Amino acid sequence: MPIPVIRTSAWIKVRNSKIHGKGVFAAKRIPRGTRVIEYLGGRITHAEADARHDDHDPNDNHTFLFIVDKKTVIDAGVGGNDARFINHSCDDNCESVIQERRVFIETTRVIEKGEELGYDYKIGREKDDPPNVDEIFACRCGSPRCRGTMLWPAKDPRKKKKAKTRAKTRTKTQSRSTSSRRAKASRR
Ligand SMILES: [Zn+2]
Repeated sequence: MPIPVIRTSAWIKVRNSKIHGKGVFAAKRIPRGTRVIEYLGGRITHAEADARHDDHDPNDNHTFLFIVDKKTVIDAGVGGNDARFINHSCDDNCESVIQERRVFIETTRVIEKGEELGYDYKIGREKDDPPNVDEIFACRCGSPRCRGTMLWPAKDPRKKKKAKTRAKTRTKTQSRSTSSRRAKASRR
């Protein structure tokens, strides 16, 4: 049995967010562990994602790309649903779960009606990152626990001589593509 597609969701509604552009909010109280919506869009390769967004302003991180694995990127700029509007948060109440190479957004705690949904994008660092990469991916989630960046880890370990080994990140959480900084889709 294939996993059911969740294109729309009665749990949520999209409206303007204080964090960034549009956001996704709880339409009613959502229990912990609820599979709210699937992250849908065109399934493309990394090379296709790069080519598609090559002309993009490198200082603009607006994007609807989500890395599924080494082979596949979902571009929600094409046939995407409301999942693409879920903002990053350092104090997340959701997580992205990869199952059978598809992406689902699930709650990690109870979310009260009217609260904004967010998950940690954990955008990976890459060798060819520009020097101002932390600026490009600065986080303004407003949480007291905000680490100031959507990138993960928060600080570039290569810049430190003695980088401590970090605790393992949750394996379920997948970061967005760093090629997203070349992405074209905007949330406006
Ligand atoms: Zn933050």
